[in-house]
Amino acid sequence: MKAVVVNPESTGVAVEEKVLRPLETGEALVEIEYCGVCHTDLHVAHGDFGQVPGRVLGHEGVGIVKEIAPDVKSLKVGDRVSVAWFFEGCGTCEYCTTGRETLCRTVKNAGYSVDGGMAEQCIVTADYAVKVPDGLDPAQASSITCAGVTTYKAIKEAKVEPGQWVVLYGAGGLGNLAVQYAKKVFNAHVIAVDIVINGLEVENVPGLIKEKIDGGAHSAVVTAVSKVAFNQAIDSVRAGGRVVAVGLPSEMMELSIVKTVLDGIQVIGSLVGTRKDLEEAFQFGAEGLVVPVVQKRPVEDAVAIFDEMEKGQIQGRMVLDFTH
Ligand code: NAD
Ligand code: ZN
Ligand code: ZN
Repeated sequence: MKAVVVNPESTGVAVEEKVLRPLETGEALVEIEYCGVCHTDLHVAHGDFGQVPGRVLGHEGVGIVKEIAPDVKSLKVGDRVSVAWFFEGCGTCEYCTTGRETLCRTVKNAGYSVDGGMAEQCIVTADYAVKVPDGLDPAQASSITCAGVTTYKAIKEAKVEPGQWVVLYGAGGLGNLAVQYAKKVFNAHVIAVDIVINGLEVENVPGLIKEKIDGGAHSAVVTAVSKVAFNQAIDSVRAGGRVVAVGLPSEMMELSIVKTVLDGIQVIGSLVGTRKDLEEAFQFGAEGLVVPVVQKRPVEDAVAIFDEMEKGQIQGRMVLDFTH
């Protein structure tokens, strides 16, 4: 089968022929239809979280179950399922048993610690593969599998209430979905900041935000891959505000201790979402409240797409099409 892997010879990706092993207990074989390219895939290819040469990338996979191991009860052949970054937890630790399974210390992550969804076929742990609801376009579902659930969860973590203001730093693959979840699902007022729209020349973004919203926003969600945006986010929220960190630049953010204490600012890291969060995020897509902006591309374009992402040339989400 064709697969997009971390190129062992560079900090990029390559398209290779791979052979899958046989299914083991608890597993299912998924024939991938679509897999979105997330900026996290670029971080993985660059070795930002450690070197994984040869790993099959991809954690925005959506496809159809072709085969299940004899013991599998949670899936059946023909189901449409997702291959997400949260690939499998241990199921028994303090995180797994208290609704925080993405923090499991022995977690497996698709496209990083195990082979992911950027291939014609993928083996998943059946009980962890979230079903895609009927009525949701599979290419759009692929984008919700990471970008959607991550921003949906991050806005939950921001504790956004109807009518409040939320600033979204970064309006890329994640950010365009963050805008939709914030407006359509959480009924918030939204300001989106991206260098494409405002230009880095606008130095005083927090000042502009505070001009518009007296005291500043109630919360900020940062998906931008730049510490500048993280620092601006802290300065954009009002006293008692929350800044939810989602983007993963390999940098340090500056955090004024005095401001954090005197203004009671909360800074929260948020990592993808649980299986339940994904089920919810999919459902809002199926109901048409959230419509991912996706562009289908052939798998042969993989190297070019990673290059475009690195150069910041992508609008919405590029989705690899494995249906041909
Ligand atoms: P993307 O490349 O599609 O979008 C990033 C956007 O940030 C771009 O539109 C870019 O123009 C914008 N940006 C860059 N500098 C900026 C600045 N100074 N101010 C405002 N905007 C700026 O990437 P993506 O797929 O949306 O992913 C974004 C980040 O989120 C990546 O670091 C990715 O690894 C991370 N991520 C985290 C999680 C999580 O669970 N926490 C999940 C998925 C992705
Ligand atoms: Zn992702
Ligand atoms: Zn666990």
